Amino acid sequence: MLKKILSIGLLSLTLMSSIASVDARGAWCWSCNNGELNYSHTVTVNVTTSEQRCQHGFPYGTDKVYTTHYVDVYICDNCGNSTTRSYSNVTSIECHGYN
Ligand SMILES: [Zn+2]
Ligand SMILES: [Zn+2]
Repeated sequence: MLKKILSIGLLSLTLMSSIASVDARGAWCWSCNNGELNYSHTVTVNVTTSEQRCQHGFPYGTDKVYTTHYVDVYICDNCGNSTTRSYSNVTSIECHGYN
C-alpha cells in the first residue's frame, strides 16, 4: 500500500507541485461519481537533499537544502476510492559556506 502511494507520489510530483495550492477537499469523486473526496491523512514520503550556492554571504561553499516530500490522501465518502496530492517543502537549509 505504501509502495503504491510512493510511486504515485513520485510520478505526479512535478505535475502536482504546480497546482499545489489547489485544495482537493470537496472534489467530486470521478470513480463512483456519487461522492466527495475528503482529506484523510498525510504521508511523509521521503527527504531529499540538494545543494545550492551559499545564500549567507560566504564566497565559498554551498548550502545543503533538505526538501521533505509529502502526499495528502483523500478518500471518497461514498465508495472509498482514494486519491493523492503530492507536494514538497524545503524543511531546512544547512550552511556550509566559508571565507
Ligand atoms: Zn467515490
Ligand atoms: Zn550558507
